[in-house]
Amino acid sequence: MIRLSDELLSGIRDHARADYPYECCGAMLGTEVGGLKEITELRPVENVHEDGHERRFLISARDMFLIEREARAKSLNVLGFYHSHPDHPARPSEYDREHAWPYYSYVIVSVMKGEPADMTSWTLAEGGLAFDAEEIQS
Ligand SMILES: [Zn+2]
Repeated sequence: MIRLSDELLSGIRDHARADYPYECCGAMLGTEVGGLKEITELRPVENVHEDGHERRFLISARDMFLIEREARAKSLNVLGFYHSHPDHPARPSEYDREHAWPYYSYVIVSVMKGEPADMTSWTLAEGGLAFDAEEIQS
């Protein structure tokens, strides 16, 4: 389970709206206790996917390094990532699954005609061949 305050949920929606019609992405930092990921900070990241940024997201190795370092300095962990699906449902794509790592939560927000809509969260299932839906608590 993942917990995001209303303020953080708004933060993800605002970022998704601002980057529309492109896909936005960012990291989610926080602490995990007994399977509950408590997100305390968002860290917007530049989407470096060369494919015009639409419907794909990729965080560079350099950004990942900086985010990990930042998290450690604050005694937080990188618990997952969020990204938007402009004009597509909040369901992970095949690309998302192939590029997902175990453990992390993947939050997806659908942006329909510029307005943020559904938000979902996913974790990679055992074996990595599918995603399991994860409840978002606020
Ligand atoms: Zn996606």
